[in-house]
Amino acid sequence: MEKLQILMARRFIWRLGIEICLVIVYWFLVIYSMATYKTKAIVLSSYPYREHDRIVSFFSEEYGRIEMRARGTRKIGSKLAGHIEPFIEVDALLARGRRWDILAGSRTMLDRRVLRSSLDARAAASICVEAVRLITKPLDPDRNMYRALSRALELLDANSCDHASVMHAFLWEALHCAGFAPEISMCINCKTAHPDDTHFSCEGGGILCGSCRERDQRAIGVSLDDVRAISMTSQISTAARSVILSFWSTVIDYTELRSLRVWQELTVGSSK
Ligand SMILES: [Zn+2]
Repeated sequence: MEKLQILMARRFIWRLGIEICLVIVYWFLVIYSMATYKTKAIVLSSYPYREHDRIVSFFSEEYGRIEMRARGTRKIGSKLAGHIEPFIEVDALLARGRRWDILAGSRTMLDRRVLRSSLDARAAASICVEAVRLITKPLDPDRNMYRALSRALELLDANSCDHASVMHAFLWEALHCAGFAPEISMCINCKTAHPDDTHFSCEGGGILCGSCRERDQRAIGVSLDDVRAISMTSQISTAARSVILSFWSTVIDYTELRSLRVWQELTVGSSK
């Protein structure tokens, strides 16, 4: 009888122990899944932080632009360091933090090695990622912008298209994604549809016909076909490139794209 009681008591303690363990595991999983999240992202930039860390700017498909702290990535032999290089596309695991989220893990999906090893392609890609940093707000997802950036970087990595055209077309597309699509189907003043003699008014956000050209002294003479043909895979005319850069500059309040200056110096240098 005594033996039976001891056996039952043991069994009771054993079951209680298992149940307590299960409850602990359950809450651990709940808390862990709340505190971490996974996302696909493109690395925009990074800068050193304290002795061993970096602050990395990601452009994520689901969460938009995120700044996070990558701990220990300045240490020699860091496993994460190779996964936070600019332009690469990663599958990232992030842990929520107070000031910055923490990069808990990262797996490279698209390495873009060719792009990163070419000075010219790298300069064009730097303009694209700087443009995204300037025109997007933190934690404001924009899947079209993500796709456009991913496509531009893919083309620069493939090295099959004109780098200048890819970069200019990306800026044009980024403006559209951010809600700054200009009016190119009719004159913004007299509403004449598809005029022959066209000028692009950056201040007015669209085209002016020959008769209304005087409305904006700084309007740029450009063929409508050239503006309509802007794409990452075609050659963009000099006038259309001028329209893109001037319109970009006007829209983002004349904030300078610093990478553009590097690009221009490089282009002038290589054409000498
Ligand atoms: Zn007009």
